[in-house]
Amino acid sequence: EAALTVPDKQVESVCPYCGVGCQLTYNVKDDKILFVEGRDGPSNHGRLCVKGRYGFDYAHHPHRLTQPLIRREGVPKTGDFTMDPDRVMDVFREASWEEALEFAGGKLAAIRDTHGKKSLAGFGSAKGSNEEAYLFQKLVRTGFGSNNVDHCTRLCHASSVVALLEGIGSGAVSNPVMDVTKADVVVVIGANPTVNHPVAATWIKNAIKNGTKLVVLDPRRSDLTRMAHRHLQFKPDTDVPMLNAMMNVIVTEGLVDQDFIDSRTIGYEELRKNVEGYTPELMAPICGIDADTLRYVARLYATSKGSMILWGMGVSQHVHGTDNARCLIALALMTGQIGRPGTGLHPLRGQNNVQGASDAGLIPMMLPDYQHVSSPTVRASFEKAWKVPEGSLDDTPGLTVVEVMHAIKKGGIRGMYVQGENPAMSDPDANHAREALAALDHLVVQDIFLTETAYLADVILPASAFPEKDGSFTNTDRLVQMGRKAINPPGDARQDLWIITQIANRMGCGWHYNHVSEVFDEMRHTMPSIGGITWDRLEREHSVTYPCMKEGDPGQSVVFVDSFPRESGRAKFVPADIIPAAERPDTDYPMVLITGRQLEHWHTGSMTRRATVLDAIEPDPVALVHPLDLAALGGKPGDVVTIASRRGEVALYARADESSPRGAVFVPFCYYEAAINKLTNAALDPFAKIPEFKYCAIRVTLGGVA
Ligand code: SF4
Repeated sequence: EAALTVPDKQVESVCPYCGVGCQLTYNVKDDKILFVEGRDGPSNHGRLCVKGRYGFDYAHHPHRLTQPLIRREGVPKTGDFTMDPDRVMDVFREASWEEALEFAGGKLAAIRDTHGKKSLAGFGSAKGSNEEAYLFQKLVRTGFGSNNVDHCTRLCHASSVVALLEGIGSGAVSNPVMDVTKADVVVVIGANPTVNHPVAATWIKNAIKNGTKLVVLDPRRSDLTRMAHRHLQFKPDTDVPMLNAMMNVIVTEGLVDQDFIDSRTIGYEELRKNVEGYTPELMAPICGIDADTLRYVARLYATSKGSMILWGMGVSQHVHGTDNARCLIALALMTGQIGRPGTGLHPLRGQNNVQGASDAGLIPMMLPDYQHVSSPTVRASFEKAWKVPEGSLDDTPGLTVVEVMHAIKKGGIRGMYVQGENPAMSDPDANHAREALAALDHLVVQDIFLTETAYLADVILPASAFPEKDGSFTNTDRLVQMGRKAINPPGDARQDLWIITQIANRMGCGWHYNHVSEVFDEMRHTMPSIGGITWDRLEREHSVTYPCMKEGDPGQSVVFVDSFPRESGRAKFVPADIIPAAERPDTDYPMVLITGRQLEHWHTGSMTRRATVLDAIEPDPVALVHPLDLAALGGKPGDVVTIASRRGEVALYARADESSPRGAVFVPFCYYEAAINKLTNAALDPFAKIPEFKYCAIRVTLGGVA
């Protein structure tokens, strides 16, 4: 029996879930992962959360796709998802790789040639490697011929990135999470790290033990609030008035860092004038925080030796998400709380590689390394590097995730390639998204499971899970880390890089990559920020922080020390005013829906709901309702409730939970049986095109069938 549990192989890799990027070891026997242990990585020092430690056996799940599938002729795309293996084979038939690739790539090419380059779009994946993201965007830009490429960053931190690029010239974090241990004051706003970045939360708790003051700004009462020096439970949707009031205090009381403002920034006068009217007294009734508390927290943040702000999707997923982030940036700039250890701005990135996928150009307005598609010089340099004809790269930004869905309904987009994303579950107004996907002439899906999106596909290409491939992944700290192959893909599932290359070549790209390191090498020669990182170095050191411009550079974990990467070298203040949520509660829909994640499940649940331990802990769809709201409905914990918005309804189990404020219900978006995104609002932030997942009007009633 002991022999059964003794691994025959140990493989050093990283966790496939959140952006913290914990390093781990896969313990493998007979091509099966037995267990996982934490390694001494820069972001985790041996620690792992429940997902990293127990969420590995999805890779061995019998639902894994092992053979290419082609939709049977005449079977309608109804959008009714099924996991029943017999019914699945009523919808699809098995195909050889040759037939599936010819069909997938051939028809995409035919649509491009018949309807034009802008009739195609591609969604890549923030769960894939940097090399996969890079090749995927290169395929769309050179094979499809447009910039219609995006991924789930559009749904999480697109607004933060827009504000950061505009204000300080870089979309990534200024300081690593671990810097909380060097800060005197840590502000966490619109984030629940205990659930979504659990190991990062442990560093915050360690810092608190050593005297750091934690201030949580959040309409929900997360676990961290129990350890917080102050919790400002502001009304949902009132970030801008609350933050502007804090800035008003800092200006009025002379707590600004005038030297920093004078030497390192532009646009302060405009911001100062803008916050004049946002006095704490006027804003207190709007945001629900008394004026004295607003003053106290503003003073605490401004006057500490080192204050650091971390934020999540509670900030970014609003129609005013970019404005929310602009306010956080302005707070840091006016007080000089940036550019030193223990200070700065840290948008906690969600997926394990959402930072790297964005860096690699998996976004519609930027080529790799955030080089804008509108620049003739930038396009010319990529045309040369990619050996494509001069003037062939598209000079206009492509469509974003939600815009693609609208374009399908209008007949503009007719074919799509989706690699490792699940828009049928993750997009807002999911019924609309599913109708759009079903309306495509041709949908190619590459994934490891038959996701809700794959169920609507014309052809499905079985791909490799995280522990089945080599590749680099970039965590929330800008740390490029090596993920290593521990096991083989099941059946005839193939490496994602191979599949992308095969599709590209069927669209005329003529690529010849023999190893993942060749893709990384091409990347570092087109992306100055990682120019100094070689594949050999990653193999040797496991992780290197960027910016790392030249070989041998140690990499910079704290940036903006002397200047900001904007043309003038100075950061820019951008004022923000109040923009209300797109849909407010009314008599028909009197409550507010907030969506998000839960500790045990990851995003749309395709991996963690197939991980034995995680599924056993959280098996059923739940809605977190304030106990008094539940009692007012006449219900009790465990009762089924039906939640409806103007776009759809779902039934699920009620959990009495005081973390949600009265009048607001929190629902995780991982449960396909109760896909809560059928209810969310597809209204977009005008700057970043991010949907308003954190606020829409709902009605809750007792009863229904869960
Ligand atoms: Fe994985 Fe994130 Fe948990 Fe670390 S904190 S083990 S990266 S899910």
